[in-house]
Amino acid sequence: MSDNVHLGHRARKRFGQNFLNDPYIIDGIVSAINPLPGQNLVEIGPGLGALTEPVARETDKLNVVELDRDLAERLRHHPELSHKLNIYQGDAMKFDFASLSSEQNPLRIFGNLPYNVSTPLMFHLFSFAGAVQDMHFMLQKEVVNRLAAGPGTKAYGRLTVMAQYYCKVVPVLEVPPSAFKPAPKVDSAVVRLIPHKTLPHPVNNMKWLDRVCRDGFNQRRKTVRNCYKALIDGDTLESLGINPTMRPENLTLAQFVAMANWLDENHN
Ligand code: SAM
Repeated sequence: MSDNVHLGHRARKRFGQNFLNDPYIIDGIVSAINPLPGQNLVEIGPGLGALTEPVARETDKLNVVELDRDLAERLRHHPELSHKLNIYQGDAMKFDFASLSSEQNPLRIFGNLPYNVSTPLMFHLFSFAGAVQDMHFMLQKEVVNRLAAGPGTKAYGRLTVMAQYYCKVVPVLEVPPSAFKPAPKVDSAVVRLIPHKTLPHPVNNMKWLDRVCRDGFNQRRKTVRNCYKALIDGDTLESLGINPTMRPENLTLAQFVAMANWLDENHN
């Protein structure tokens, strides 16, 4: 049978479909999630149910968001799963995750994410961090490296700063291409993201954190002084504890936030 057909379904590249096919890896992911009855679980991209089935076995109810109409329909008729699933057929990037959460029952979101949209999807999910207990995602290994990176490394970027602004980032497991059907061209990894209960470095206005990150990481080779010269002068940078001769990629989250909050107060 063609490598692209799995359980009678032809994988759709445009939906980033690479189905998990390795029981050992599936077990490892489900143990990392550790789903329990009564929890508010949400799966993004359930596909053919590789994670949905074992997670649903441990719980009474599971929300799933699936873009592919055929796969959503298949789950609707799944003999063992359908009565436990709330199926939302649509785009997770437009989905209002807060609509599923309550103060007593924060969300536990998980999924083997479509790699073609994983970065914008992560940004969308960060905006719901306040409604989330934790998230477990399979991603390209390179994206997990970016989420977990430290200042001064190649992987450190806007995704890192935003992820670590909202969450503690814990890489959990590395996964080879052979665990999927069809096999992706890249290595994968599972990451756990735990939103901070209290933000360690809160910004007054997210617009400014976004701006200093974009400006900084789009001009990595410039000094901080040159990179931000239209916004902040060198003396102010020094007063914020930032050496104007350093490169933006060496700035810590706390330093990006210090600039953002200064701009919020002083820039009109
Ligand atoms: N969970 C299954 C597994 O592990 O075998 C499938 C994972 S596959 C990598 C990604 C899944 O996400 C597919 O089922 C795909 O149809 C779905 N998907 C793709 N883009 C999506 C989007 N924007 N919103 C929701 N689901 C999406």
